[in-house]
Amino acid sequence: LFRENSALANKISEEISKLAPRVVKKLGLDKIKIMNFCGSHEWTTTHYGLRALMPLEVELIPGPGCPVCVTPSSDIENVIKLAMEGYRVYTFGDVFKLPTVKHYKSGEIGSLAAAKASGADVRIVYSFADAIEEAKKDGKPSVFFGIGFETTAPSYAVLFTKEKVPENLLFYSSLKLTAPAAEYAVQLHKEAKRTPVSGVIGPGHVSTIIGAISWDFFPKKYGIPAVVAGFEPIDILTGVLVILNNLYRGKAEFTNLEYRRVATYKGNIFALENIKVAFNVVDTIWRGIGNIPKSGLTLSEKFKKYDAKTQLGIKEKPWDYDLPPGCKCNEVTLGLAYPTDCPLFMKACTPARPWGPCMVSMEGACAVWARFGSYE
Ligand code: SF4
Repeated sequence: LFRENSALANKISEEISKLAPRVVKKLGLDKIKIMNFCGSHEWTTTHYGLRALMPLEVELIPGPGCPVCVTPSSDIENVIKLAMEGYRVYTFGDVFKLPTVKHYKSGEIGSLAAAKASGADVRIVYSFADAIEEAKKDGKPSVFFGIGFETTAPSYAVLFTKEKVPENLLFYSSLKLTAPAAEYAVQLHKEAKRTPVSGVIGPGHVSTIIGAISWDFFPKKYGIPAVVAGFEPIDILTGVLVILNNLYRGKAEFTNLEYRRVATYKGNIFALENIKVAFNVVDTIWRGIGNIPKSGLTLSEKFKKYDAKTQLGIKEKPWDYDLPPGCKCNEVTLGLAYPTDCPLFMKACTPARPWGPCMVSMEGACAVWARFGSYE
């Protein structure tokens, strides 16, 4: 699509280049910092070299939108422990290699992959539905490690509300909500007396569920424009131009312009209703960052009999710094550093041997930069 639309892409980037110096001058900033929330936006930005199309006045920074990157080490450690105690653990493939911090501190088993290599019954599945099918067949006590954002939550929720989950399958929730983390990141840039974030590109996939209007709080509360964008390079370029236009006109508006093809203002009502029945909103820990209020989902009272933490007496401990030594994943996920600012990038930490969590999944900024970035 990018190649087919190269003339359009060039036109948009010319407009961005014309507008950016005027916006910078008008706002009296050294640059216009625009945060994308979503790991897939970072993928598009890096894969298609969109940063190279930006004028010096515009900086595109990654945000915390990679669920694998922000799953706390304590959750992985708890699930590894269950696996070593004899529970069958179901997990998604990209969680399998996720390293714990305990491994670096005391040499304990450092990932679900290592637990499997030590004899634990850890199985990779494509979906919660697949885990349900398999758990039903043999009745073995099992735990599903449920990570993800609002995009994944409905696929769990609907199976609980439709009563498809067998009693021998517990659910370990590490589910996270996107808007509180995006707000946390934007606030941090403001408070840290850095160049503030001047605009936000909201996640397209998540917006299909929670509704594009969920990002309206950025203009209303923080006075900065927000757009919902799709995942084609043209989508992101258009989003940047819309934000610059807003800033130049002295407006802070919310725009769902070109991703109306998928994300409606209200979102997916069926999915939202199912999430509401199956889950409660709780405070939760984001890896390397700590506790963010009302940013997680736990099973509701109605489905507590499936909740692994409740049923197995797993107590949530206060957050302890949980990144491997030297890893700057917290700074990368909050847009305070680029992967190349980490001294371990493509040295001790590579996609084949990830040292930190942002190098594991293809939604992690470090993994994306390692594969597609020009960093040499
Ligand atoms: Fe962490 Fe590796 Fe990224 Fe460095 S390169 S921030 S160690 S994930």
